[in-house]
Amino acid sequence: MTNDELKESLLMSSKNGYTRISAEDRQEMEAYCQRYTAFIDSCKTEREATAWASAEAERRGFRPLSAGMEAKPGDKIYLNNRGKSIILAVVGTRSLADGANICAAHVDSPRMDLKPNPLYEDTEIAYFKTHYYGGIKKYQWPTIALALHGVVYRKDGSVVTVTIGEDADDPILVISDLLVHLAGDQMQKPLAKGIEGEQLNVILGTEPLQGEGSDLVKLNIMKLLNEKYGLIEADFLSAELTIVPAGRCREVGLDRSLLGAYGHDDRVCAYAELDALFAVEHPEKTAVCILADKEEIGSVGISGMQSQAFEYFMGALCDAQGVNLRDCFAHSFCLSADVSNAFDPNFAETCDRRNNSMLNYGVAICKYTGSRGKGGASDASAEAMGHVRTTLDNAGVIWQIATLGKVDQGGGGTVAAYMANRNIVTVDAGVPVLCMHAPMELVSKLDCYETMLACKAIYQA
Ligand code: MN
Ligand code: MN
Repeated sequence: MTNDELKESLLMSSKNGYTRISAEDRQEMEAYCQRYTAFIDSCKTEREATAWASAEAERRGFRPLSAGMEAKPGDKIYLNNRGKSIILAVVGTRSLADGANICAAHVDSPRMDLKPNPLYEDTEIAYFKTHYYGGIKKYQWPTIALALHGVVYRKDGSVVTVTIGEDADDPILVISDLLVHLAGDQMQKPLAKGIEGEQLNVILGTEPLQGEGSDLVKLNIMKLLNEKYGLIEADFLSAELTIVPAGRCREVGLDRSLLGAYGHDDRVCAYAELDALFAVEHPEKTAVCILADKEEIGSVGISGMQSQAFEYFMGALCDAQGVNLRDCFAHSFCLSADVSNAFDPNFAETCDRRNNSMLNYGVAICKYTGSRGKGGASDASAEAMGHVRTTLDNAGVIWQIATLGKVDQGGGGTVAAYMANRNIVTVDAGVPVLCMHAPMELVSKLDCYETMLACKAIYQA
């Protein structure tokens, strides 16, 4: 055997996905990315993603979970968890005692939430005070176009949906930054201190109401909100209003190979799961898709992945089949679909090039996340990694291996550990992202498409 032959048979050689993707898949990829773009343009919060998924599920014959309902092969069932997260299932031909194939993603993204008492006027400028949600670099958020999204529960019990800043003729909102001419002191600060949390105040207006009085700019803004939405100031006390980047997902690069948008983390995996699930008709094992809330702040709360809402849903399906929920979990598999960090040559020193995901190399499989000595990681077993490797290879999915940065550089986590804690074998996988958690994140079209194919393969494993 020559060395070349030996190399071919013994060593790995990873190749750019564009050298491996078929012409047919290349076309499918574009169509898929157009569907994804439409989704992410209309879903910038967990509520919007949950509402979108519920409506689409209904349209495709899914029925809401109800007491005493059956769970027969082919049945399509979903649970809208209080408008903030959603779980969907296509019931398999095999019993739930044999386990389910689960894909779990999250639909919340870093942003700035309004404080409970947000509206104020300072020096005849009206502002909203915000509290950032999730991990953000605060300096990235001033001087960009922002939009207001959310819901308000009014005193009469009615719920108003608010969206300002997305239509072409809407005004946008902006946070100011200091002019460079006077920024000598600011520019000497570390990046983390250049803009402080209490400076993330959003400009709402500057025109005072006519007549006598104080805070007339603020009063004018409240009057405008009252005319458009029927709101009074006290309604902010029972509201979930959030500030997100305004604007749409755009193709990026002269070759249009990337998609730039707010909130790819993790709606790019959430959509992959959904699109794949909608294509599954009669899986052997029950296919389950979860779009969870609150991942960016620890997967806590009633709509987070640690919530018993998942047991409630799966327990109801198991009850319908006379199966013990614990048996179902013990035989289930979960792909925790969350984004990974794509290798960025601009910051090469933060990663181990040999073990990092790369743009266009396909869906990134991650054995462990965590920080320091794998602290907080689920750390999938050899068997679990083997199951994913075999399943994806057999389905012809383009995939790669991923770790989150070089050792001791930092770290992070996903919902994987919370699924594994339920006695469900779990592996992390997702789309590599450049500038994760920034107002604009970048992903490759090819990786988006392959992640959807990976979810489909897992559902049908
Ligand atoms: Mn994520
Ligand atoms: Mn994140």
